[in-house]
Amino acid sequence: MTMEIDLADKQMQLFIKEMPKIELHAHLNGSLSHNTLQKLIELKAKQSNAKQELNLEIPSLSSNDLSECFKVFGLIHKITDSAEAIYMATCDVIEDFYKDGICYLELRTTPKESDLIATQDIYVKTVIKAIEDTCFEKCKGLSVKLLLSIDRKRPPSCAEETLKIAEKYFTGLSPVIGIDLSGNPNTGDINYFLPYLEYAKKIGLKLAIHISEVPGNFEEVERLLKLEPNRLGHGTYLHPQKGGSTKNFELLKQLKIPLEFCLTSNVISKTVSSYEDHHLTLFREMNYPYVLCTDDKGIFNTSLSNEYYLASKYYSLSKQDLFNLSYESIDYIFSSEIKKNELKNIWKKYKSLI
Ligand SMILES: [Zn+2]
Repeated sequence: MTMEIDLADKQMQLFIKEMPKIELHAHLNGSLSHNTLQKLIELKAKQSNAKQELNLEIPSLSSNDLSECFKVFGLIHKITDSAEAIYMATCDVIEDFYKDGICYLELRTTPKESDLIATQDIYVKTVIKAIEDTCFEKCKGLSVKLLLSIDRKRPPSCAEETLKIAEKYFTGLSPVIGIDLSGNPNTGDINYFLPYLEYAKKIGLKLAIHISEVPGNFEEVERLLKLEPNRLGHGTYLHPQKGGSTKNFELLKQLKIPLEFCLTSNVISKTVSSYEDHHLTLFREMNYPYVLCTDDKGIFNTSLSNEYYLASKYYSLSKQDLFNLSYESIDYIFSSEIKKNELKNIWKKYKSLI
């Protein structure tokens, strides 16, 4: 019996890996694999010639302990402070997703300055160059788009600068396609950021907003919903059965803004108590649009294939259900109708072969 289950599990994993997939919620820094971290540590040691002093040890990535996860973020911050490191990190993350069967990827990142990266503009330029080079050389056929993140923990002046850069590169020729609002949900008054988000929307940038990651905050959630963003991240406490306000929930149902669900991220960071208890089940019951994503695949030691596998395991999704879920995600991407049709043809072709 156990052997039969093992075999069914393996077949499901193989099916998922080969199935074309779309990743729409991936933070660049949190997506770095163990291997990439190692390379970046070596690069940093070479640049600074002081490996010992920097104390650059990689905390255990297989750990389900959140404090270990935060230690990794601390390390990443230290080792991604040069253009060379950002370039290497971006190329590697794109390649990881490509190898996992992703056909279309939207990466998000907060443009940062450091001693070695003088301006947010240089940071973004470096990421764009890495995207273009990787898609041209190693990952042919993969489409990668970029969302610039506004971190609510940072001052509004940083958000203003990020928006200026997004506007500059939002030409149709570069991968920059939208704005993400993220960061610690317990920090930053959202009212300071709303005008920037409104402006972004006005000029045609798409909006992906982390929303309702902590209980309560009904006014903030309402303000963010009224912006009518294009996609919402997590939405952990939106549903009334999870403590969400009925008023906001009615608005959400009216707007039908697709939700980005990141199962492992939510379980490890303890915003949901277990996979079984994830709010995906409630939204699935009501046929609400959603997409499976990884959030920070490096930090949480997962992959998009693994997230689909967990969905099959915990919510009894069949291969057909998983395929449909992946196919429906195409409608929620931030690219043109032409791109959507192109992707739909890839999915249809794949289906005709299985
Ligand atoms: Zn996120």
